[in-house]
Amino acid sequence: MALLIDGKKIAATIKDEVKERVADYQKEGKEVTLAVIQVGQDPASTVYVGNKKKACAYVGIRSLAYELEESTSQEELLELIAKLNARTDVNGILVQLPLPKHIDEDAVIHEIAPEKDVDGFHTQSVGALCIGEPGFVSCTPAGIIQLLKRSHIDIAGKECVIVGRSNIVGKPVALLLLRENGTVTVCHSRTQDLKEVTKRADILVVAIGKPKFITKEYIKDGAVVIDVGIHRDENNKLCGDVDFADVEPVASAITPVPGGVGPMTIAMLMHNCVEAVALQDK
Ligand code: NDP
Repeated sequence: MALLIDGKKIAATIKDEVKERVADYQKEGKEVTLAVIQVGQDPASTVYVGNKKKACAYVGIRSLAYELEESTSQEELLELIAKLNARTDVNGILVQLPLPKHIDEDAVIHEIAPEKDVDGFHTQSVGALCIGEPGFVSCTPAGIIQLLKRSHIDIAGKECVIVGRSNIVGKPVALLLLRENGTVTVCHSRTQDLKEVTKRADILVVAIGKPKFITKEYIKDGAVVIDVGIHRDENNKLCGDVDFADVEPVASAITPVPGGVGPMTIAMLMHNCVEAVALQDK
């Protein structure tokens, strides 16, 4: 039976570690503050923002909520970010994506000061990751590395295959696994003979966005399987990009959905917020 990588438990541990660091800052008279901006009322975004606020409350981070009208112009949003950039009492700025169609997401991400970019989406953060300089790492990819490390799974020297090359998951995961000395291959929709490539993987990370796409035919015996996908199946039950029931018997370790990668994203956001204070102190 495969080891079940318990993202819920690992995320809870990370949040407790963050809580201690926040309390230490409070003893020094410092408040850790995250500004969360939501434009419009996309129901999924409202749930995500609500969960982020809850996590802030748990670890003791002050969250400032900016709930803007759907009709907010790009200029108005950029002005708000510029104001938050200038505030010394704001450590992190997060703009919930997706934004309404009339707003250019790249322009908005660029406006966030790199030292407050707790989502790690700014080109400066991505560039720093690329060349191994310190900077914010986006939360889901950083969470995947924590899942592996805290489950005592060695990355160095291992064949690591990532299916998916998005800017928010696939590419940063590839860079992080490379930083950990994995031998990294990135697959995408143009990859020929995907099974042939994934079957080489000691560690397989799947971020395709297609429910239960990866079956046991894609897996080498004893591989570690990290499933980033999140969907509702035909019975309205949560499932991932990996067919868990089919793959679990051949894997040595696997993340479930829910309770695998999902809870790590917010835990790493909390981690990035305290890191922001340390960075700004320098
Ligand atoms: P994207 O849709 O941005 O990217 C999907 C990637 O998969 C693309 O690179 C695409 O290739 C590739 N792909 C699609 N079909 C195939 C195929 N048949 N064979 C090989 N590669 C294929 O998705 P995201 O990276 O944003 O998200 C992936 C999944 O992870 C989603 O289910 C999403 O909901 C989930 N997610 C979960 C998070 C969390 O748990 N916290 C956070 C972020 C995402 P190409 O580039 O060629 O089009």
